Amino acid sequence: MPNVPLLDRFGRVATDLRVSLTDRCNLRCTYCMPAEGLAWMPQPQQLTDDEVIRLVRIAVEWLGVTEVRFTGGEPLIRRGLVGIVAAAAALAPRPKLSVTTNGIGLDRTAVALRDAGLDRVNVSLDTLDPARFHQLTLRDRHADVLSGLRAAAAAGLTPVKINTVLMRGVNDDEAPALLRFALDNGYQLRFIEQMPLDAQHQWDRHEMVTAEEILAALEPFGLQPDDVSRGTAPAETWLVPGYQDAAGEPARVGVIASVTRPFCGDCDRTRLTADGQVRNCLFSTTESDLRKLLRDGAPDSKIAEAWRVAMWGKLAGHGIDDPKFLQPARPMSAIGG
Ligand code: SAM
Repeated sequence: MPNVPLLDRFGRVATDLRVSLTDRCNLRCTYCMPAEGLAWMPQPQQLTDDEVIRLVRIAVEWLGVTEVRFTGGEPLIRRGLVGIVAAAAALAPRPKLSVTTNGIGLDRTAVALRDAGLDRVNVSLDTLDPARFHQLTLRDRHADVLSGLRAAAAAGLTPVKINTVLMRGVNDDEAPALLRFALDNGYQLRFIEQMPLDAQHQWDRHEMVTAEEILAALEPFGLQPDDVSRGTAPAETWLVPGYQDAAGEPARVGVIASVTRPFCGDCDRTRLTADGQVRNCLFSTTESDLRKLLRDGAPDSKIAEAWRVAMWGKLAGHGIDDPKFLQPARPMSAIGG
């Protein structure tokens, strides 16, 4: 079959697919969704496991996708996750496979996921303090996240990366402690600037903890510039002198400065929501419906073409700084973070 990549008008090629497997989550991170949760996607609207697998196959075989990251919502609560990973791992050429998770339940599933073909995990952890964890997520699951991290490392789902969002006045004093924790345990920490993607629409640029502030807080570590090219990776990385990661490589810390230092010009992502909509950007206000094509019996070629058209329309940048910026209707949890 013709393998024609996902090109856009600015010459970018999308090879990294983020697949949301559910919009539901077992945490209520205050910067993401309200305490009462959201109006969840009705089951019939959600892609079945077979539909997800078909779209991932089309992405790999027809569109040149080389990396697939499963996310959500919380992907570990999707019952078919292990089977979906196994099917993706059986594709040729085999894509790199990872999961972004809050880590709850990973202690029970890490080995099965590895055996199915998962390469890596990103685990979200915003605090080392169980009481703060409760304040931030409204759930008492801190110990579960820590045991999920340990299980992922033990299963070889490495490098285990930790994603951290700092919130002013809540956990913004924890950057050094979180980095030390990551270094001591062989995890790779990445701080993510808070983005205007919360369901509550309470994001405030002036309240956001910036990359500059994070780097200032990490000054005692004497971070050094990282010579390794960043390529299309969202994180800018720094070397942490005196530390090595689990593989014996120099330890690194990353900052994903999506707001203050956008990297849209290098973006190589394409996104699929749990209900089969392609999004060409996290911040896109439009989507392209692949589920309808699937359920109407369209052949692979037609679905692949619709996906290419969706990506061709990708804008040059997310436009957060544009006075006309409009937050997308779907929150992060429903897009897939
Ligand atoms: N439930 C999984 C998890 O916790 O990793 C996957 C989905 S979650 C939406 C993915 C990542 O997005 C998490 O690291 C979370 O902290 C982050 N996140 C959620 N809302 C965000 C926001 N408004 N700005 C920046 N990051 C956000």
